[in-house]
Amino acid sequence: MTLPEHAAPGPTPLPASSVLAELEALRASDLPTHGGRTLAYVYDSGVAEADELGRQALAMYGSTNGLDPTAFPSLLRMETDLVAFARRVLHGSDQVVGSATSGGTESILLAVKTARDAAAVERPVMVVPTTIHAAFHKAAHYFGVERVTVPVDPTTYRADPEAMAAELDRYAGRVVLVAASAPSYAHGVIDPIEEIAALARERGLRFHVDACIGGWVLPWAPGAPAWDFAVEGVTSISADLHKYAYAPKGVSLLLHATPELRRDQFFASADWPGYTMLNSTVQSTKSGGPLAAAWAVVRYFGADGYARLVDTALVGTAAVVAGVEQIDHLSVVVAPDSTLVAIAADDTCDVFTISDLMLEQGWFVQPQMGFEGSPATLHVSLSAATAASVPDFLVALVGAVTAAVERGPIQVDEGLRAAAEAIDPATLDDAAFAGLLQVAGLAGEGGAVEAPAQMAPVNALLDVAPPRLREALLVAFLDHLTR
Ligand SMILES: *Cc1c(COP(=O)(O)O)cnc(C)c1O
Repeated sequence: MTLPEHAAPGPTPLPASSVLAELEALRASDLPTHGGRTLAYVYDSGVAEADELGRQALAMYGSTNGLDPTAFPSLLRMETDLVAFARRVLHGSDQVVGSATSGGTESILLAVKTARDAAAVERPVMVVPTTIHAAFHKAAHYFGVERVTVPVDPTTYRADPEAMAAELDRYAGRVVLVAASAPSYAHGVIDPIEEIAALARERGLRFHVDACIGGWVLPWAPGAPAWDFAVEGVTSISADLHKYAYAPKGVSLLLHATPELRRDQFFASADWPGYTMLNSTVQSTKSGGPLAAAWAVVRYFGADGYARLVDTALVGTAAVVAGVEQIDHLSVVVAPDSTLVAIAADDTCDVFTISDLMLEQGWFVQPQMGFEGSPATLHVSLSAATAASVPDFLVALVGAVTAAVERGPIQVDEGLRAAAEAIDPATLDDAAFAGLLQVAGLAGEGGAVEAPAQMAPVNALLDVAPPRLREALLVAFLDHLTR
C-alpha cells in the first residue's frame, strides 16, 4: 500500500484541483469498485449511466439532513417510495412499513433492538443459525441480548428447524427474536424460511429474515422458495440497497410487517433544552445522499431492469459453479440459491494462497476461515458486471490453483498452532498483543503494523486460531493500524 506523501490536511490551503488529484492518487491503492473483478464488498451493475446517476444524486443530496423529515420532505418522500417498491416486490400487505438505514448492519441492529424493547423480558435471547451474519452478533453484544446459535445441517448448510425448535422451547419466555437468512453470506443458501416461520408463529415470536444480500435478487430469481412477506410469520426483513440494488454505499431497508411491530424502533427524547430528538434509526443527523442515490438508481432500473440484471448475474453464477466443478482440487461447497458461491480446495493447496494469487491477477476473491465443520473457502459475490468475464475469471482461477498446488498447502508451525490453542486472549496485555501480531505476520520489524502484501500465511495462521483469539488478534491489528 503506497499512499502519496502529502495526502494529509495541513496548514497551507490548496487549490481544489490539487486536492482532487490527491484524492485520485489515494484511490489508486484501493480495490476497484467497478469493472466486475472485485467479488466481495462492491456490486457493479455494469451500467455506466446508472452509476453516474447515483453519483449525481449523492452529490445533490450530500448536505441534506434526514434528522427531521418535516424540514426535508423530499427525503421522507424518497424513503416511503423505496419502502413501497420493496413492499410490492417482497409480497407485503399494505400494512408493511419500513425505514431507510445506513446499511445492513444498522437494519439488523434496529431489528434486534426493536424486538428486545417490545418484548421487555429479563435476560432476552435471540435464536439464530450458526450461518447468520455476524451483524447479529454485534447487535446481541450492543443490546445485551443473549445469542443462542444453532448448528446448521452439515450437508446443506441450511438452518435446522428441528434443532431451532428445541432451543426455542429451552429458552421459552426469554426469546425475543428468531432470525434466518435469504441467503446466508458465507454459503449463499436460503434457510427453510417457511418451517422456521411456522415455529415462530406457533410461539408468538418475531421472525426476522436477513435478506440484506438477497433482497434485491430473489424477487427476480426464478424458482426461489417462498421466503419473504408471502410467508406468514415473517415479521421483518432487511434488504440492502447498496448491494444488489446497485446503489452507492450507505443505504439499506428495514421492513416490518405492521406499524405496531415497528413502534419500538423509534426513539424520542424531550429531556433536554434543545429540539426534541425524534429518530427512526441509529443515526440522528444523516446525509440524504445515499437515500437519494438509491431512489434514483431504483427508479432508473425499475423492476424490469432488476429482472434483467438478476438474470445476468444468475447466468454468471451458474457459469462459475459449472467452471469450478471442472477445476481439479476445487469444489463448490453447496449449490447456491442466489449469486454467492463458496469455493473450497482439497488438501493439495490452500484457498488463502489462491486468493493471493488471484489478487496478483487483478481478481479479488474473499477468503473465509473454516468454522465448525464449514471448510475454509473463497467467497464470490457475483455482480451483473462480472457475468461477461466469467471465462477470464475461470482461466485466472485455473492458473492460481496450479501455482497454489505447486507451493503446496501452508504449513502452520506445530508449536505456533499449539500456542494459538493454549492462549487465552483475555489474559494478554498490549505488549503481548504487539508480540503476537509480529508472530502472526501482521507487524513488521520494530512492531510497525501494516496490511501484509501476502495475506496467505496470516490467514492460514488465523484459520487455526480459535475464534476468540482470531478476534482478539484482529482487533489488536486494527487498533495499531489506526494509531
Ligand atoms: C452484507 C450483509 C449484512 C451486513 O450488511 P452491511 O451493509 O455490510 O452492514 C448482513 N447480512 C447479510 C446476509 C449480508 O450479506
